[in-house]
Amino acid sequence: WFLTIEGGEGAGKTTLIEQLAKTLRNQGRQVLTTREPGGIPIAEQIRGIVLDKENTEMDARTEALLYAAARRQHLVEKVLPALARGEIVICDRFIDSSLAYQGYARGLGIAEVQSINEFAISGHMPTLTFWLDISPEAGLARIHAGEGREINRLDLEGLSFHGAVREGYRQLMTKEPERIKRIDAEQAPEYVLRDVVTILNARI
Ligand code: C5P
Ligand code: MG
Repeated sequence: WFLTIEGGEGAGKTTLIEQLAKTLRNQGRQVLTTREPGGIPIAEQIRGIVLDKENTEMDARTEALLYAAARRQHLVEKVLPALARGEIVICDRFIDSSLAYQGYARGLGIAEVQSINEFAISGHMPTLTFWLDISPEAGLARIHAGEGREINRLDLEGLSFHGAVREGYRQLMTKEPERIKRIDAEQAPEYVLRDVVTILNARI
C-alpha cells in the first residue's frame, strides 16, 4: 500500500502521519514514513534549492521539473524498495502537490505538469490519497503560531495563492474520487486520524 497525504500549509500532515504510522504499527504492520520533496539525500538537496528564500528568480517550469526530479529519485531509491518488501508507505506529499501547486496555483496547467510527472513516476500512482483540507486562513495561522518551523519561500505567498492550491486539490479530488479522499483538517488531530483510519480500515 502506497498512501500519500496531501494538503496546504498548516493542514497537519506531519502530525497525522506520525499518529497514523503508530496506529498501523500497533496493528502489527510494517510502515515506512517519508516526505517529499526530500526523504533521501539527493532529493533533500533539491528541496534545499526549491525552498530557498533567496531563490526569488526561480522560473515556474524549473520549479516543476525540480520537484519531479526529486520525486523520481525518492520513488526509486526509497518508496519502491519498501513496497517490494511489503511495507505500507506513507508519504507526505506526492504527485498531487505538483498538480495543485505548480499545475493549478502557479498556472502551468494541470495537464502539462501531469505529463512531466508521468515521466517521473512511470505508473507508480498512490493506492490511496488523503487530502487534508483546511482554509488558507486557518492553515497559515497555524504555521505562524508554530514554534521551530522554518518559514520557506512558499510560506511567503499570499492567501490567494493558497486559496488556489486548495481549489487545485478540489479539482483533483473531483476527477479521482476513488483515490483521493477529502478529510476535514480543521477538526482536532484525533478526529482527523479517526476519519483517515475509518476509510483505511474499509479498504485494507
Ligand atoms: O510539506 P511541506 O510543508 O514541508 O512542503 C514544503 C513546501 O514546499 C511547502 O511550503 C509547499 O507549499 C511547497 N511545495 C510546493 N510544491 C510542491 C510541493 C511542495 O510549492 N509540489
Ligand atoms: Mg509538514
